[in-house]
Amino acid sequence: MCGIVGYIGKDKCLPKIISGLESLEYRGYDSAGVAYVTKKGIVIKKEQGRIANLKNSLNMDEEGYMGIGHTRWATHGKPCQINSHPHQCGKITIVHNGIIENYDELKKQLAYDFKSETDSEVVAALIDKLYSEEKDMIKVLTKLKNYLIGSYALGIIVEGDEKIYAIRKDSPLIIGVSENGNFIASDVPAILEYTKMYYLLLNDEFAVITKDNVDIYDQNGQLCTKSLMTFEGNREAAMKNGYEHYMIKEIFEQPKVVMDTIKEYIVDYEHLKKRMNGLEKYNAIDIIGCGSAYHVGLVGKSLISKYAKIPVNVDIASEYRYTEHIYDKNHLIILISQSGETADTLAVLRKAKAEGIDTLAIVNVVGSSIAREADKVLYIKAGPEIAVATTKAYMCQLMILSLIALYLGINKGLLDEKVLCEFTKMDELLKDVLDNKDELAEVAKTIYKNNDIFFIGRKVDYALCMEASLKLKEVSYLHSEAYAAGELKHGTISLIEEKTPVISIITDDDIRLKTLSNVKEVCARGALSIIISNEKITDKQLYDKLILVPKVHELISSALVMVKCQLIAYYVAKLRGCDIDKPRNLAKSVTVE
Ligand code: GLU
Repeated sequence: MCGIVGYIGKDKCLPKIISGLESLEYRGYDSAGVAYVTKKGIVIKKEQGRIANLKNSLNMDEEGYMGIGHTRWATHGKPCQINSHPHQCGKITIVHNGIIENYDELKKQLAYDFKSETDSEVVAALIDKLYSEEKDMIKVLTKLKNYLIGSYALGIIVEGDEKIYAIRKDSPLIIGVSENGNFIASDVPAILEYTKMYYLLLNDEFAVITKDNVDIYDQNGQLCTKSLMTFEGNREAAMKNGYEHYMIKEIFEQPKVVMDTIKEYIVDYEHLKKRMNGLEKYNAIDIIGCGSAYHVGLVGKSLISKYAKIPVNVDIASEYRYTEHIYDKNHLIILISQSGETADTLAVLRKAKAEGIDTLAIVNVVGSSIAREADKVLYIKAGPEIAVATTKAYMCQLMILSLIALYLGINKGLLDEKVLCEFTKMDELLKDVLDNKDELAEVAKTIYKNNDIFFIGRKVDYALCMEASLKLKEVSYLHSEAYAAGELKHGTISLIEEKTPVISIITDDDIRLKTLSNVKEVCARGALSIIISNEKITDKQLYDKLILVPKVHELISSALVMVKCQLIAYYVAKLRGCDIDKPRNLAKSVTVE
């Protein structure tokens, strides 16, 4: 959520800060601003809405070799110009990502004429007060954690001081290093045009950055030595490559990233065993995530309990963290997060560790907080995912959960090693589904003008419905609900009227006939019936459109269904003229609770 970019160096800062903020747009925001230093002092410009508005208010060629920029995702105070960052109090100008939980209390103690409703302005005032007392930013930043409760990544400039200061706790921040100057940024894509080299700032650490030097201090204010990291992907991977939107590009990348992920874990069974070693000791598993990561957990539950006969509980991180739990002796908590920074998931991880429960993270971003803090990490290989609505990361998470089910199933003698081969066909299978994308564009035409749509399915198909429904509503703003097919008649069926679209997912053989009975019920009420199935359905009365997926092992079948659903969501959003990659109100990396 939100983006921070700062630059100090030999080049003019505005083009670098603005292009950096643009490459963080995927994180979601509602206003943007920048503070930069000219011969006349610090200039602050901020605008509500897109970065383009801010850009229009700037002379990009203006002299100024150091500055900090911000895209805000409002948490305290509405999105408007005054609440946008940077905020200035006295000698201090800051940009902030995160939430200060005790801001109200601090606000009462600080005698400042506050202009905004934000929690962030209070931090600027606090730093200004501490700086006027200490006259030394190293001392101020060492002390800051004693005053603040909550999460923060801060970029700070001090009047008359040719340095950028950066500090973080529970919100991400990196320090980019290049020959022509140094950067601060919320994420690596912001600096990739200029450098691949960066330092990862850890909680409570802070950095003092000049045009040719970076000093990093630990939480006690002692200089520390850090190893410089190199981003291994390429910038191309983070660009659109000719696709109209990142979402469709990322959907089409799935055959590759799914295989990249699978190859990490499967060469043969011995290799899988090595990578998953130790998981066989658990006799109870909790899977925790938010949004799509929660939905993929539900698919995982279905597969692990069916093929490995281990009880699995799935929960939403923001619920789980506040609920009482009874843990088994050999209990594992699996945490799923694309960014590895999801605040609620991170909180669950920390609570689990405090209680001595083993944790396993399934994460995309290497070195992220969840990846670092979990006992074990299984990385997915999705590469940078820019569209806010996840597609390829969900798919790779799904593969990891299937591989866990596969490993545990084989280990217990419940599955044959031969099933391994099924996974190696994944790229061809996914490519075939993508080749038939036009049928989904046609389906989109039949439903995009509706106000409501329903997805129904049972068991694993219900878990898929939940993600399919979320995908559709987040990008197209079309109201959609996922229902367990057997549950519809207990209330919601009253909403089905003539031509209400109902998409039924039917891949589970054990329950096929039951779901088909539910399809009959909605057809009888005039629904526009679309069925996604891995078997032909002879009774043509049951559907207006039948979408077939190949019949493959259940461990990989869900992935094929999901690609179809992603494409429907994408084409509906396109027909409705939505901002597909940056849906309103949403953020990519949800670093607030
Ligand atoms: N809590 C701050 C605000 O509402 C920062 C939000 C953000 O991370 O963008 O201004």
